[in-house]
Amino acid sequence: PSKPSLHVFDTLESEVRSYCRSFPTVFSRAKGYKLWDTAGNEYIDFFAGAGALNYGHNNTALKQKLVQYIQNDGVSHSLDMATEAKEQFLERFQKVILQPRGLSYKVQFPGPTGANSVESALKLARKVTGRSTVVGFTNAFHGMTLGALSVTGNKFKRRGAGVPLHHSVSMPYDGYLGSDVDTITYLESCIADTGSGISLPAAVIVETIQGEGGINEASIGWLQRLEKLCKASGILLIVDDVQMGCGRTGTFFSFEQAGIKPDIICLSKSIGGYGLPMALTLIAPELDIWEPGEHNGTFRGNNLAFITAAEALRYWESEQFTNEIMAKGDILRSKLLEITKSFPELQGEVRGRGLMQGIAFGISGLAERICERVFSKGLIMETSGTDSEVAKIMPPLVIDEEGLRKGLDILEQSVKEIAH
Ligand code: PMP
Repeated sequence: PSKPSLHVFDTLESEVRSYCRSFPTVFSRAKGYKLWDTAGNEYIDFFAGAGALNYGHNNTALKQKLVQYIQNDGVSHSLDMATEAKEQFLERFQKVILQPRGLSYKVQFPGPTGANSVESALKLARKVTGRSTVVGFTNAFHGMTLGALSVTGNKFKRRGAGVPLHHSVSMPYDGYLGSDVDTITYLESCIADTGSGISLPAAVIVETIQGEGGINEASIGWLQRLEKLCKASGILLIVDDVQMGCGRTGTFFSFEQAGIKPDIICLSKSIGGYGLPMALTLIAPELDIWEPGEHNGTFRGNNLAFITAAEALRYWESEQFTNEIMAKGDILRSKLLEITKSFPELQGEVRGRGLMQGIAFGISGLAERICERVFSKGLIMETSGTDSEVAKIMPPLVIDEEGLRKGLDILEQSVKEIAH
């Protein structure tokens, strides 16, 4: 099939762009779990806008609400003024998400992106505690702004800042030092080591599964001990659920399975529901100490996103959506295990849970080659991990079984071709 030209992008856009290199075509249309390019080629989407499209492209119910709202001249932008759209979102978030889980948080709209939510969390933790250092973990990813980057554990991304980044300490994530090293005890010893003159951190920021870092999953026990350690030491626990939240792992929040209650939660990506920019910082009520205007920004009032976000929450009104995600996660897992068992020479290891899974390969460059090959057959997949060693599968949560199996067949075929 013919391929559209990328000439305009190659000549006019900054060299910093990256996804156009993994997916060298020009996309024009998208629906559900499918995308089409300008030459009419069809692609199955196992990338979902890096997790921003959990409810699929142009979700019909969300689109209807959005179109209706625009047709009625609903407010589109409002800074943080009170609007009907925001009211509706807040009420539904309280009723459908927080209340049934016994959670109590103040909701802050920190700006349009995940990094905005992380920045707000870091700032607030420092203001509340009066301390400056934040503990991040090896292989963590929290965003590209200076604060978020300072707690990001990726050498290449940090290099983008040009100069050393301050106010953070990197600690080993669960499993980073091998299964026989207890990294919580290690963290505990570092925090207790007042003799070295190292000051107590303001907060710890953690992903329950490191998405960009290679689908590294923290165990439930590790997360529970981390929470306990934070509480005992007066350190705030921030869970960055930007990528794993909004149902990616099955439950709305990824930490629900561990039964922990973070002090601050970062959400973005799929919270807007339609791929519209939106982020939330959820703040334990007693920590909500900012004065009006102490942390503001122009694009906190994306009312179009409030409309689709409120509608998307309808998926969470019953247990059914979680059950569906888990069932599709099981299909995904068994196929990935089948693939790794069929080709042991590729040294593949299946990682993740729910609709956030992938295969980490022991052979350098293999995951990248697989992603290139699947793309040539009409499947969009990305790599993750510091050395791009993981072929990552992250379809829209609403993908049907047929689409999921079709995509997995392309993956299996591609792995087979590469292995032989
Ligand atoms: N935190 C996590 C866990 C993420 O995965 C990302 C984005 N991949 C971010 C923060 C940053 O979000 P954004 O790109 O919207 O700034």
